[in-house]
Amino acid sequence: METYNYLPDQYKETNTHQINHNYLKEQFDDYPEILNKIAKLVHNCDYTLGQEVDIFEERFKDCAGSRYALGVGSGTGALFLSMKAIDLKEGDEVITTPYTFFATIGSIVTAGGRPVFIDCKEDYNIDPSKIERAITPKTKAILPVHWSGHPCDMDEIMAIANKHKLHVIEDACHGIKATYKGKGLGSFGTTGCFSMHPLKNLNVWGDGGVVTTNDEKIYKKLSLLRNHGLINRNECEIFGYNCRLDTLQAIVANHLMDKIDHITNKRIENAHYFDKQLREIEEITVPSRDPLKKSVYHIYCVRAQKRDQLQQYLLKHTIDAKVHYPIPMHLQPAAKKYNYKKGDFPVAESICDSVISFPVHEFITKNQIDTICGKIREFYK
Ligand SMILES: *Cc1c(COP(=O)(O)O)cnc(C)c1O
Repeated sequence: METYNYLPDQYKETNTHQINHNYLKEQFDDYPEILNKIAKLVHNCDYTLGQEVDIFEERFKDCAGSRYALGVGSGTGALFLSMKAIDLKEGDEVITTPYTFFATIGSIVTAGGRPVFIDCKEDYNIDPSKIERAITPKTKAILPVHWSGHPCDMDEIMAIANKHKLHVIEDACHGIKATYKGKGLGSFGTTGCFSMHPLKNLNVWGDGGVVTTNDEKIYKKLSLLRNHGLINRNECEIFGYNCRLDTLQAIVANHLMDKIDHITNKRIENAHYFDKQLREIEEITVPSRDPLKKSVYHIYCVRAQKRDQLQQYLLKHTIDAKVHYPIPMHLQPAAKKYNYKKGDFPVAESICDSVISFPVHEFITKNQIDTICGKIREFYK
């Protein structure tokens, strides 16, 4: 049968690469254990929400250091429901970064809002010193993205938000287990949004996400919004959506929660090992690492001179070097109507022109990192 649905390249088996970003086979080597738990679910017929989702939410809120956590359909769902939970109105503005994944902006726009971009800092995250000037009477929220699991400057961002009575919605889709001054990402803003997409640090067998909050009212609204606004079988308090975390995926997520510390620590260890070697290479710029921020390296990215040639060279030598991402949001075809132009956000644009990422997941060995760094040195010789 012909396949109609798009199969992203990232899931394909690649015999050509010896060092891969993709590690899903190894990640789920113990899949029979998960299948056993799913068999129990089939026996109980507990297909939507139910006990596995409850267990997961309890564990996740403790892990993130938030009062509440709700399992939702995806990271995008977490962001979109957050916009609805803060009562974003048609034309309300949300201040955010042009250097992010599409879903950050998509959730603002599909909820009826208007994205207002400001530039980044050299650490790839939103520059708090530029936020205040972008605030207008229509501003409703600030949406910082903890890019690659590196925490934004939350003290500065929260101070501005409090002064101007704005919501903060944290895009923590890369940031599970990351902390800022010891406090979990997703526990600062009105809500924190996490993704469990197959390529994220805590990954399930399809789509899944989590939204965290410390605000009881917001929690109640989010609980309604994700499940048709139902307060019981026959009564609906507000018309809502169907955006629940699948019970089946909650089983996979609970299984991986046991390993999240190991996954995180390995990524950090690998990143530090990369840092040490890459700092020695003049043509590579490793971002400065702030000891008050615990980064979890969903992506290991640095900036490189002659980036495109370096990427081609590494690919040729069977190393899966990627670019996350080459085009900033304000220059996307979808953003045309907001009238931004090239040159508006020089830092973000220069990041997109020079950023490159290397596999950093828990199955990468020190030997493989040595190989990658060796090839980079070779390229610049
Ligand atoms: C992955 C991602 C999302 C969306 O998550 P999904 O679970 O794929 O919907 C949102 N923001 C960022 C920064 C992401 O990387």
